[in-house]
Amino acid sequence: MAVATQTKYEVVVGVEIHVQLKTASKMFCSCSSEVRGAAPNSNTCPVCLGLPGALPVINRRAVEHVLATGIAVGATTPEVTRWDRKNYFYPDLPKGYQISQYDLPLCSGGTLSVETSGGLAEVGIRRAHLEEDTARLLHQDKPGGGRLSLVDYNRSGIPLMEIVTEPCITSAEAARRYAEELRLLLVTIGASDAQMEEGQMRVEANVSLRLPGADKLGTRVEVKNMNSFRSVERAIAFEIERQSRALDAGETLIQETRGWDDTRGATYVMRLKEESEDYRYFPEPDLPPLRTDAAMIASIRAALPELPAARRARYSADYGLTANDASVIVASAGDYFAAAMGTDPAPDPRIAAGLLSKIGLREQKTQPALLTQRPGTELAEVVRLRTSGAISSQSAEDVYLEHLQSGESVASIVAARGLRQISDASAVTEIIDKVIAANPAAVADFQAGKEQALKFLTGQVMKESRGQANAAVVAQLLGERLRQ
Ligand code: ADP
Ligand code: MG
Ligand code: ZN
Repeated sequence: MAVATQTKYEVVVGVEIHVQLKTASKMFCSCSSEVRGAAPNSNTCPVCLGLPGALPVINRRAVEHVLATGIAVGATTPEVTRWDRKNYFYPDLPKGYQISQYDLPLCSGGTLSVETSGGLAEVGIRRAHLEEDTARLLHQDKPGGGRLSLVDYNRSGIPLMEIVTEPCITSAEAARRYAEELRLLLVTIGASDAQMEEGQMRVEANVSLRLPGADKLGTRVEVKNMNSFRSVERAIAFEIERQSRALDAGETLIQETRGWDDTRGATYVMRLKEESEDYRYFPEPDLPPLRTDAAMIASIRAALPELPAARRARYSADYGLTANDASVIVASAGDYFAAAMGTDPAPDPRIAAGLLSKIGLREQKTQPALLTQRPGTELAEVVRLRTSGAISSQSAEDVYLEHLQSGESVASIVAARGLRQISDASAVTEIIDKVIAANPAAVADFQAGKEQALKFLTGQVMKESRGQANAAVVAQLLGERLRQ
C-alpha cells in the first residue's frame, strides 16, 4: 500500500528501531529471555530486578548479533566501545538507569538500499548499539474503581539493539520499506525474530519538513506506538500532512513526541521531547570497555548467511525470475524456495516460482508460518511431475494446494487421486494402435477428409486410457499415426 502524500515541503524522516535480540539469556544476567508463556516476574534475578550490589555480566551472543548486523550493512566496528548509563526514573527500570551505549556504539555508519515505487532509496545508517530492554507495564481498571498498574520484570534486561538512521528518508513509503528490509535482514542473519505484534521490533519515526533548498532541518516530531509496517507508513503520511498544514498556516511546530492511534488514523501529543542532556549519560562503572578484535569480526563475517539483497540478485540472474518475483519470494519464502532449488534434479525455477507465488504465498497470507512447516522438496516434486508431463498443469496446482493444506506428500496425493498422466510415447502408441485396430470405419472416414473422425478417435484413446493419457501427447501421436 502506498499512501500518497503531496506537499510542497521537503520531507525528512529518520527512523529509530529497537529489536530484541535472539539469545537464550538476558543481556547482563543468566535469566531466560523467553517471555512467552512465562508467569509474570518468573524470569528474574537480582541483576535484572536492579537490586543493590548485583553486578552485570555481558552476553557475548548479543554483542555478536549487533556486530553481525553492522557488518551486514557495511558499518564500521571500532575496536573499543563503551557502556553508559542512561538515567531516568520510571517503574519499568528498577535501577534508575538503563545500561546503554552513548558516544562509542558497537557499529557506526552503513547503508541499506530499498526498492520503492519511486526507485531505489539508499538509507544511511548512523549507528547501531546495544542496550537492555525495560520491564513491561500493564495498566488496568481496579476492581473497586480507579486504575491499577502492574509491572512484569520478565522483559527487563532482554538484549535490545537500537539502529538509528540518518535523517535521509524522503517519504513514508521509503520509511516503511526500510523497516521491512531491516526486519528481513535481521531474521535472515538470525539476530532477532523481529515480530512487531510481539513487541520484538519497535519502530519510531522522526518526521520534519523544510522548504526545498533550506540548509537547516526543520523541527522534528517523533512518532511512537506503530504496531505494523502499514501503521508506520500511515503515521508518517499523517504527520507530513499535519505538519504541512501547520506550516502553511504560519504556525511554528514544536519538538514533541506523538503517539499513533491506529483506529483514529491520527497521531496525538504524548509529551514534549526530552533532550539527551536530560538523561545525564555517564560511563558505566560496573562494566569495562568492550573490546572486539579483528579475528572476532572476521569470524562473524564468515558466518553470515547469504543476505537478502544478494539472494534477490542471484534469483534474478541465475533463475531468470522477475525482480518482483525474486523480491516477494526472498521476503516471504526464501529458504523454502532455496530448498526446492537444491533438490536433484533441480525443478524448473520459473515454474516453481509461479506455483509458489500463485498458491504457496497466497495460502501463507492466512497461515503465516505455513511454508516453514512444509518442505520445499515437495514443491520441487510437483514441478518435476508437471514438467515431465506426468501430471497436467491444472493437476499441479490442485495437488500443490492439497499438499500445503493437508501436509500429505505430493506423490501420495497424485497416486490417491489417480492424477498421473500417461505421457510415455510407447505407452500412448500402444493405446492408439489398439483404438485404430478397433475402429477401421472412423480411420477410413478421417482418411477420406472427415476431420470429425479425429475427435472421435481422440476420445476413444482417452477413454481407453481412463482419462490418464497426456492429451498433448495423444494429439501429436494420433495425428502422426493416421497420416502415415
Ligand atoms: P535523539 O538523541 O533525541 O534520539 P538523534 O539526533 O539521535 O536524537 O536523532 C534520532 C533520529 O531522528 C535519527 O534517526 C535522526 O536521523 C532523526 N532526526 C534528527 N533530526 C531530524 C529532523 N530534523 N527531521 C527528521 N529526522 C531527524
Ligand atoms: Mg532516540
Ligand atoms: Zn536476571
